[in-house]
Amino acid sequence: MSGGKTSASRVLAELDTIRADLEDCYRDVHAHPELGHQERRTSAKVAGRLRACGYEVHEHVGGTGVVGVLVNGTGPGVLFRADMDALPIKERTGLPYASTATDGDGRPVMHACGHDMHVTCLLGAARLLAQVKDAWSGTFIALFQPAEEPGDGADRMIADGLTDRVPRPDVCLAQHVLPYPAGRVLTRPGPTLSAADNYRVTVYGRSAHGSAPDKGVDPVVMASMLVVRLQTVVSREVAPLSPAVLTVGSIHAGTNPNNIPESAEIQLNVRTYGDDVRHQIADAITRIAKAESAASNSPRPPGIDRFGSFPPTVNDEKTTETITTAFSGFFADRAGALDLQTASEDFSEIPKAFGVPFTYWGIGCVDPAAYEAAARRGTLATDIPVNHSAAFAPVIQPTLDTGVQAAVVAALAYLGTEQE
Ligand code: ZN
Ligand code: ZN
Repeated sequence: MSGGKTSASRVLAELDTIRADLEDCYRDVHAHPELGHQERRTSAKVAGRLRACGYEVHEHVGGTGVVGVLVNGTGPGVLFRADMDALPIKERTGLPYASTATDGDGRPVMHACGHDMHVTCLLGAARLLAQVKDAWSGTFIALFQPAEEPGDGADRMIADGLTDRVPRPDVCLAQHVLPYPAGRVLTRPGPTLSAADNYRVTVYGRSAHGSAPDKGVDPVVMASMLVVRLQTVVSREVAPLSPAVLTVGSIHAGTNPNNIPESAEIQLNVRTYGDDVRHQIADAITRIAKAESAASNSPRPPGIDRFGSFPPTVNDEKTTETITTAFSGFFADRAGALDLQTASEDFSEIPKAFGVPFTYWGIGCVDPAAYEAAARRGTLATDIPVNHSAAFAPVIQPTLDTGVQAAVVAALAYLGTEQE
């Protein structure tokens, strides 16, 4: 779209006038993180800012969700989503605006996934589009979603009537800060983020004195064998060119050294990129849990629950091509290709509910000089804190400018109009 770049430069010429305010906004949101479904301060701030620049604002969508709608003449509709929630992590960044917040139960809370940056970038883009309305035509929908981390924020907005409350967009867009050099924008067509599924597997034994194992059935040994056997699912059953991860992140049994307990529980996290492998692994977990129980002479079959599932994020090819072309035009060599990510997201539930295509891209947030130096030393893994680390600390600039620019450029790839 030839109009995209021209319109984007006109809108983004105004970024200088709001940059200082946006940086203050970012520091404020960062210092006041809120866990999923508790984003009351954040959503009130978002709603106030959207209203101040002329958006029709829908509040309390699915709890703390906020949607701003700006109808500006005729044309397509673009929905842009930012997630708002933080994590139960004690911040150790040493930043002057570091969080000291706790939730209602006294747990520390931190914006360790960068959702504060997503919120601020979308507020910036929303405001610029409202300030320069003659550069575009159509409908811009700024959606602020609660509870991405627990994975049910998008679903709750949809269950609360999202698709009836706001106009149906033609496309949905979203971005995430990632540990790449700040200033870079990274797109990817097709499979981009994994599906995630958690499982709780309980195996049953028969309790006995620790000195008399022959009188009982030991669920500790059973669970141990199960953990080891589960390691063969990805290494021995899934095709070598199909990426998948299976991690046993929790194992619990017993209370005393001299007592064989009644049961043992393990919790697993599985990441996959397509329904075939996702189902293959689900079937393997069930088969192995049952077989290990039988092998140990368990008195009853294992309990297997799936919980906390995220869908795979598979970017629409054509939408991604449109956005990639727009980014190349604006960012030149700062635009690049995103690697396949093992993280997961619930964003895709929103375009799915509207029945429209989507793409989701990454923006870098690490000081470029620090990144280069670590890459030269071969110490990226140890020296650059990643999302969900207590030391995760995006550099405000050029991350914030880049995120605002990316949002505006992407929206105007659909909404931009040629300059007279
Ligand atoms: Zn996260
Ligand atoms: Zn995140």
